[in-house]
Amino acid sequence: MGFFRRERIEGKSPEQLRLMRAAGLVVGRTLAMLAESTAPGMTTKELDTLAEDFIRSSGALPSFLGYHGFTGTICTSVNEEIVHGIPGTRVLDEGDLISIDCGAIVDGWHGDAAISFIVGGAETGRPEDLQLIDATETSLYAGIAALQVGRPLFDVGAAVEDSISDSVRAHDREYGIVEDYVGHGIGTAMHMDPQVPNYRCREKGPTVVDGTTVAIEPMITLGDQANEVLSDDWTVVTLDKSRACHWEHTVAATKDGLWILTALDGGERKIAEVGARFAPLH
Ligand code: MG
Ligand code: MG
Repeated sequence: MGFFRRERIEGKSPEQLRLMRAAGLVVGRTLAMLAESTAPGMTTKELDTLAEDFIRSSGALPSFLGYHGFTGTICTSVNEEIVHGIPGTRVLDEGDLISIDCGAIVDGWHGDAAISFIVGGAETGRPEDLQLIDATETSLYAGIAALQVGRPLFDVGAAVEDSISDSVRAHDREYGIVEDYVGHGIGTAMHMDPQVPNYRCREKGPTVVDGTTVAIEPMITLGDQANEVLSDDWTVVTLDKSRACHWEHTVAATKDGLWILTALDGGERKIAEVGARFAPLH
């Protein structure tokens, strides 16, 4: 995906942002519940059922289910799987690195987020996997901090890449930034223009305007970024079988600052940590 249109971003109104926050909160709460519930011995399908029940009982609709024929409410991507893993009969083991991606719709507005963690708790994880999770999450918030009204949108990807370069030095290991899958605009549909690459590119992209909403979602590997789609037509895996990690948030930028629509606290703590301005709407 090396082609980016220079389209103009259409900002959301405060009322529309509040509706997106409702969808984002359902996604954030679903992911928190899944992180609590995941245990060795469970199948990914069991997690999917928990997610669907939780989303529907929250008065929302799962957005992934039926999307181009996808059969899950969530994507569950384990170990060398990067994204788009289909929930099924796979039994989770202690020490697996799982990424869970979730989307929900409230009153026609979408939220989209992903988390990664070790099945059975961090203490059962390989040290390199824990560092990968940390590097990827840190790069997400670096990207979020670069989303500012008046700046080029693709500053986000440059910030993600710089953050990963910092982690390469700090952890003394190589990381691969997956370039074939990118973040995206979001609102009345899950995937909208513009695309949001996770790396520095020559184009600047459109200028971020008041009320911009995008999903930022770095995917990082412990090896090379080269990947392929399995014969199920969905699951994306690393070619070198190195483990991969994915973090995502739906974020709103207004002239006053940032509001992470899929974070339970709106991003207050993390936005402060990266030195950006927290600007929720009430
Ligand atoms: Mg997602
Ligand atoms: Mg997304």
